[in-house]
Amino acid sequence: MTGRNRSPAGDDGEARPPSEQPTNHGDPEPDRGMRADDGATEFLCAECGEVAGRLRVVAGGDIVDDDSVAGQWRLNGPVTVLSGFIGVITTVVSDAGYDSLHRLLGEQGPLTRDVADIGVDLVPFFCRQCRRTYCRSHWDLWQDSPTSVVIGYCPNRHRQLVDD
Ligand SMILES: [Zn+2]
Ligand SMILES: [Zn+2]
Repeated sequence: MTGRNRSPAGDDGEARPPSEQPTNHGDPEPDRGMRADDGATEFLCAECGEVAGRLRVVAGGDIVDDDSVAGQWRLNGPVTVLSGFIGVITTVVSDAGYDSLHRLLGEQGPLTRDVADIGVDLVPFFCRQCRRTYCRSHWDLWQDSPTSVVIGYCPNRHRQLVDD
C-alpha cells in the first residue's frame, strides 16, 4: 500500500488507525433504504455500503422518465421502477401493492425485507436466504443464454433468480 498520508473520506476530525478496515461508510444501516432527492429509495449493500438499487413507486397515469433508452412513457397502472442494479426493471404492481409500497417507502429507513414481503421480485438485490441486501458487484450474476434470465449468487453462494 502506498499513500500512507491519505486521510479517510468523510473526515470528521477523528483519525482512524490505518490498520482498521473501512466499514460500510459508517452511519447508514445496511438493509435500510434512504430517501434520495428525486423521491426514489436507495438500498445499500450490506457488504460495502454502495447503492444496491434505487426503487421508486409510480402511480398509474403518471409519466415515467427514468433516463433509460425508453425515455418518457405513460402507464396504465402502478409500477415500481428499479434502477442502479441491472439496467432499469419496471414491475407492474396491484393497487393494493402500490398502497403498501407507497406507505412503506414513505417511512424513515424502510427495510429491504419489508419490501420483499410485498413482492420479492421488486428487490432482486435482496438475498432471500441471507435476508441481506447486496450491490451488483457483490452478486455473481450469470445470464442464461437461451432464456436470458439472470441468475445471481450472493456472497454466501445462495442462488436466486435475479431477473426474468
Ligand atoms: Zn445469501
Ligand atoms: Zn457491495
